[in-house]
Amino acid sequence: MLQHDRAFEPQWGAAVPVAPRVRRITAENPGPFTFQGTNTYLVGDAGALAVIDPGPDDPRHLAALLSAIGGARVSHILVTHTHRDHSPGAAALAAATGAPMLAAGPHRPARPPRPDETARLDAGGDTDFVPDIALADGAVVEGEGFALTAVATPGHTGNHLAFALDGGEWLFSGDHVMAWSTSIVAPPDGAMADYMDSLARLAARPERAYLPGHGGPVRDAPAYVAALAAHRRGREQAIRARLAAGDETIAAIVQAVYVGLDPALAPAAGLSVLAHLEDLVARGLVAADPLPALTAQFRPLPRSTPPVYE
Ligand SMILES: [Zn+2]
Repeated sequence: MLQHDRAFEPQWGAAVPVAPRVRRITAENPGPFTFQGTNTYLVGDAGALAVIDPGPDDPRHLAALLSAIGGARVSHILVTHTHRDHSPGAAALAAATGAPMLAAGPHRPARPPRPDETARLDAGGDTDFVPDIALADGAVVEGEGFALTAVATPGHTGNHLAFALDGGEWLFSGDHVMAWSTSIVAPPDGAMADYMDSLARLAARPERAYLPGHGGPVRDAPAYVAALAAHRRGREQAIRARLAAGDETIAAIVQAVYVGLDPALAPAAGLSVLAHLEDLVARGLVAADPLPALTAQFRPLPRSTPPVYE
């Protein structure tokens, strides 16, 4: 059973110790997709620090980061993914500190956007960001007294990375796994098959606690990751059941599956259902006319292939 933990006191602008040698500073950009704001993490002791997710382009947040950094040297600026609530602050922080910016690469949607796809969520892609150093999966960033290992976790965006802190106890999970909510998996930035694969990758890792891009820590992370995967499998089953019952459009499926949904969240629900349908089409279980899109018509294909996910 999936249980979210929304208990979180943002303490905007303050450097809050959250783990050994890790402080969290939350930007004051609360909203429906950012919860109480974007979390920036400072990793390391006094000598040299790494900064994970500098956050939005916000002078107050930059000032809070520089105040918490104090006289320390910033050795690395790491970015989990290129959404506008995470990466735009990197350039100003790099200019102020001289530190290099590291990320998987520039903004990368899971598939090319189509001309009619104007509905975008989660503050949208930061197409200005270009890392100084591109991190491949498994790349190790050596800091002063700590190391961070890049873990490719596409799904929310094509270029999403998590960062495992040495010792195997803590993982910075970005927007891939968060305690307060499920992650947005919305085409074209996101892809459900990638997201499920990335959950499986984390489930096989040793870290027990995650520090996410929004909200408080994820405790008992392996069980929570398993619950997230089960939740999506259940959602997929519900969507397939609606198709079998004769629903043909995303609007009809959303109405049936998301009972009591806040109308303001209907577009997000529609994109989430689209993400599942794109995956089902790719697996040969559903047909789309003409292409999988918010306005397409869908029907189940008469195949007995069981779902691929384990
Ligand atoms: Zn975010």
